Amino acid sequence: MKLLNQLEARLHELHEQSLIRVRKTVETPCGPRVTVDGRPMLAFCSNDYLGLAGHPAVVAALQEGAERYGAGSGASHLISGHTSAHVALEERLAAFVGPYLVEPRALSFCTGYMANLAVITGLANVDKDTAIFSEALNHASLIDGARLARTTVKVYPHADLEALAALLEQSTAANKIVVTDSVFSMDGDLAPLPALLALCERHEAWLVVDDAHGFGTLGENGRGALAHFKLRSPNLVYMGTLGKAAGVGGAFVAAHKTVIETLIQRARPYIFTTAAPPALAHALLTSLDLIAGEEGDRRRGQLHALVAQWRDGLRLRRWQPLASDTAIQPVVIGRNDETMRVAAALYEQGLWVGGIRPPTVPADTARLRVTFSAAHTATEVAQLIAALNQLENT
Ligand code: PMP
Repeated sequence: MKLLNQLEARLHELHEQSLIRVRKTVETPCGPRVTVDGRPMLAFCSNDYLGLAGHPAVVAALQEGAERYGAGSGASHLISGHTSAHVALEERLAAFVGPYLVEPRALSFCTGYMANLAVITGLANVDKDTAIFSEALNHASLIDGARLARTTVKVYPHADLEALAALLEQSTAANKIVVTDSVFSMDGDLAPLPALLALCERHEAWLVVDDAHGFGTLGENGRGALAHFKLRSPNLVYMGTLGKAAGVGGAFVAAHKTVIETLIQRARPYIFTTAAPPALAHALLTSLDLIAGEEGDRRRGQLHALVAQWRDGLRLRRWQPLASDTAIQPVVIGRNDETMRVAAALYEQGLWVGGIRPPTVPADTARLRVTFSAAHTATEVAQLIAALNQLENT
């Protein structure tokens, strides 16, 4: 009982600090209008930025994929789980983001979390004398990848290129790896990728870019952050996720073919896990068609119009909307309990917005993380703006 008592005591502390997380149960397909625990809600908290998760063509492709390949892959990629659906997906992804890389190849993963663990450990393990330089607001999966690499990790302050330059200058490591989100997941702003890449090239360092929130939404045809900034370099290692704008699930790494071959041979999060169901890869081919085509352009246009409407319409004095042009539009409230009270008040009105607390964000910066989707309407966004403007005054 002593062991359970310890756990109970820790959970009680989380309660006291307004840090207990509660999972809500969604009963309908992913989209802005969902039924949650029996109640109709308007959701502003998913990462389905283009509204593809419920797109009939993607759903039909998933069904077709299951008929063609079965429900599961049955094994890891290096045993017998690597199918023609995975091959087709990797070829399409390599062609899609290839213009920004040199001699590109792509490798698919079950999740972005695992892709990040694989990239960082895979690149770090080739040389004992490795240093990792990690941006302060990086996603947890990048932080965990750096920990798992069991080597020197230097954290540089958010968007502080001078601090990073000084750290790179001081480092004598033979293998230097700079790691950053492209779109910061809890702030919505963009990393200064052109200047970061110039620094990395000067110091012969890798630049690992996690484009979880940029792939599909940024750049020409939704090709992501590298396209947005028009970058190209052999130093770039690109990670994109496929469960957000692409609407399905999984992730991929694209880089020079030698990097990818290294990951296939050495990266444990790639090697020692069952390959994702091939039907997902098959459905993703349809998602990619939609992202890259006219429908993708139309959906990105709608998303940007909704974000502009939101930024124009907010009239807040105490709560602070962060500067962001992306689909991620956080409003910093500060205290954990106040943040959760505001989120609960919105929820009462049928508006579902995530309340984000430490350790996901720094102490005293608890916030609402509002996310928009091309599937929202202007009327729905106006409803959220009105509710929030009014709540700040009550
Ligand atoms: N990187 C970033 C920046 C993310 O926001 C996320 C997902 N929240 C991931 C990686 C992990 O991706 P996945 O959900 O596919 O594991």
